[in-house]
Amino acid sequence: MKTNGNDKLMEKIVSLCKRRGFVFPGSEIYGGLAGTYDWGHFGVALKNNLKQSWWKKFVDARQDIYGIDAAIIMNPKVWEASGHVAGFLDPTPDGKQFNVMFKTQVGAGEEAVVSYLRPETAQGMFVNFKNTVDAFHPKLPFGMAQIGKAFRNEIAPRDFLFRQREFEQMEIEYFIRSEDWEKYFEYWKGEMLSWMEDIGLDMGKVHELEVPDAERAHYSKRTIDFEFDFPFGRKELFGLAYRTDFDLNTHKLEYIDEEKGEKIAPHVIEPSMGVDRAILSLLISVYAEDEKSGEVRSYLKFKPNIAPVIACVSPLLKNKPELVEYANTKIFAPLKSEFGRVMWDDNGNIGKRYRRQDEIGTPFCIVIDFDTLSDDTVTVRDRDTADQERIKVADIKKYISGKIQ
Ligand code: ATP
Repeated sequence: MKTNGNDKLMEKIVSLCKRRGFVFPGSEIYGGLAGTYDWGHFGVALKNNLKQSWWKKFVDARQDIYGIDAAIIMNPKVWEASGHVAGFLDPTPDGKQFNVMFKTQVGAGEEAVVSYLRPETAQGMFVNFKNTVDAFHPKLPFGMAQIGKAFRNEIAPRDFLFRQREFEQMEIEYFIRSEDWEKYFEYWKGEMLSWMEDIGLDMGKVHELEVPDAERAHYSKRTIDFEFDFPFGRKELFGLAYRTDFDLNTHKLEYIDEEKGEKIAPHVIEPSMGVDRAILSLLISVYAEDEKSGEVRSYLKFKPNIAPVIACVSPLLKNKPELVEYANTKIFAPLKSEFGRVMWDDNGNIGKRYRRQDEIGTPFCIVIDFDTLSDDTVTVRDRDTADQERIKVADIKKYISGKIQ
């Protein structure tokens, strides 16, 4: 079997994403807008599944992490305090320093103030530190988590989803006592690696880069960039930083440590993951090609819990009402209401339907044929092996649930 690793991989992925309704160039009918992309039906589903798996693992499955969804436009004082107004700079090709925050005007006339679209989700968490402590009274260590859009006026957006001007981040700020930082740094490294493995990233392509002193952000005492072997080079997928007490100090925030009977500014460990880079790494990890009946097929080997469509239901022939009726009422409708991510496809011949579902990455195609009408079994075809097995209609829900774990 031939899998990725070929130099046309990016072109193939970009073209598949557009053809199959995952990701479209932003504002395309007006000539596009560099660094922006629009997500189609299957892309949204994929992105939601990925974000949900992160939220489930780091928020729902724990008791010590509090979710937040802060405003994208914040008081400009936040960005002055955080250092972004003075220092979030990239050099332009003629050597000038350019602040990559998008400026915007809030309000009209004399009342108007200049603010910025947030360039990271992190500050939305720090400025809600006090609110979170007051509302939930958490004991150290505890964390805050946020998934949301971030904007950077990148000088040279490129490489599809890798470097955009509008993208999404999933960040955790984990508040600890300073003496525990090394322990929790290691802990979060392990957690992030295990999440990446859970979603199906090719872990052989993930590498750690210890960021040297001179290149670290001013607030960080240790940063590891987790890099991924993209077809255009080994580049940052996400970062793990020990931010010390810089952020809480800068916003003049403190925490009453009841155990020690003192006011402290907790220190912070921050795993900062880009949703779009995670999606791109995943597409690269799962893209595969092989040959079926003399034809090259391409398919996406998504894990069932991440795949945009979990199962596709097809009557063998669309002009046989008895097959259509059975497929619709006994298979499609119950599966759709149970799993949501279920698709109906009766277009073209069965081979074409399989190719289409392979490209979307649907793990199971269920076909209702004439035998179904007499023995209440259906064919379930596995995306990766293309093997088919007969399953009792009564067992279908259980069969699929078993694969989503
Ligand atoms: P780079 O050095 O590649 O510009 P960065 O170190 O500035 O990235 P961070 O500020 O650490 O990135 O942001 C955290 C995460 O947000 C990154 O690891 C990445 O996954 C994501 N990210 C940052 N900038 C972009 C972008 N322009 N497009 C897509 N994702 C991004």
